[in-house]
Amino acid sequence: MFVYADNAATTRVSDAVVAAMLPYFTEHYGNPSSTYPLGQEASAALIRAREAIAACLGCLPSELTFTSGGSEADNQILRSAAAWGKAHGRTHLIASAIEHHAVLNTLEDLKAEGFSVTLLSVGPEGVVSPADLKAALTPQTALVSVMLANNETGALQPIQQLAELAHGAGALFHTDAVQAVGHVPISLKNSPVDFLSASAHKFHGPKGNGFLFAKRGFELQSLIFGGAQERGKRAGTENVPGIVGMAAALQEACDHMTENTKRMEEARDALQEKLGVLPGTRVHAGTLLRLPGHLNMAFEGVSAEALLPVLGMAGICVSSGSACASGSPDPSHVLLAMGCSPDEAKSSLRFSLGDDITPEQVEYVAETVKREVERLRNLHQRR
Ligand SMILES: *Cc1c(COP(=O)(O)O)cnc(C)c1O
Repeated sequence: MFVYADNAATTRVSDAVVAAMLPYFTEHYGNPSSTYPLGQEASAALIRAREAIAACLGCLPSELTFTSGGSEADNQILRSAAAWGKAHGRTHLIASAIEHHAVLNTLEDLKAEGFSVTLLSVGPEGVVSPADLKAALTPQTALVSVMLANNETGALQPIQQLAELAHGAGALFHTDAVQAVGHVPISLKNSPVDFLSASAHKFHGPKGNGFLFAKRGFELQSLIFGGAQERGKRAGTENVPGIVGMAAALQEACDHMTENTKRMEEARDALQEKLGVLPGTRVHAGTLLRLPGHLNMAFEGVSAEALLPVLGMAGICVSSGSACASGSPDPSHVLLAMGCSPDEAKSSLRFSLGDDITPEQVEYVAETVKREVERLRNLHQRR
């Protein structure tokens, strides 16, 4: 059996999305900046895509900028907000310690440019505490950046409350919503969120496509200079098929969110229960609100490094945390921030189920993981 349970790393592009994209490679292949009809067809497709995404999120089409993905969106927002801060005498930035490296490493770079950075830790359930943010805010704070849902644990963050606190101190608020968009309801209408980042390949769209939301009135900075595409904020000929696919994928995800959530939650809860039968297991971030498909679990005495290839051979795709962290022997910065020991972090697996998961697949994953964990534990004991 083959089970893809690593949807937090990337997702399969849905068949309907591929079908929506294809004509924009071969038929409507014009450059959207060209004025003849072939170009204007492409330009019209971009307008429709922007409108569809805006409708899904409850924002204005003009508040969206297309990017090459979540990382670029995070980079552009952080740099733009930092520039705004500098112009207003604010050179302090706050983020959570569990952010994606697209945020953390951009902040590292901004430090070298003279900004000071505070990283907020999280409680044992992987959630940022509003009280901690309140204590960290200063009159110099330019931006607070806290993700909507964590990619390793799925833990949802109280961004509404955090954004209001940031505003109370005169700071801007960004949320990296890459794991959340298309998976949980999001409405930017009347929301205190100033900036949001998203990535198509996390919701069954194509890789290398994303977008950022920046509230009306805010002047973004460019990362890429050149032509006047994206209102002069992101130069380069638009990835028309990719953008069409991203909009189709988000539309599909939003249209089916209720039933997808139910199916994924039921499967995830069943998997958690079946694996919980093993002694020496612990669920990370299991008691508060989580993304529907996420399960992050520690298996005492077994390293993920040993378990992953065995599961891979059995046709099961899971991971030990973020795609960027796997391959490096370092324990997850997210689990460490939650208070896990390095050993426990290294013995943890992340399952992120897809919306096509079946009960048979759940059963297969549970039985295989249990068998292999027990086998590896016995091996260690005999040594
Ligand atoms: C995947 C991911 C990103 C990066 O998005 P890309 O499109 O792969 O660059 C950023 N933040 C989070 C939370 C992610 O899960």
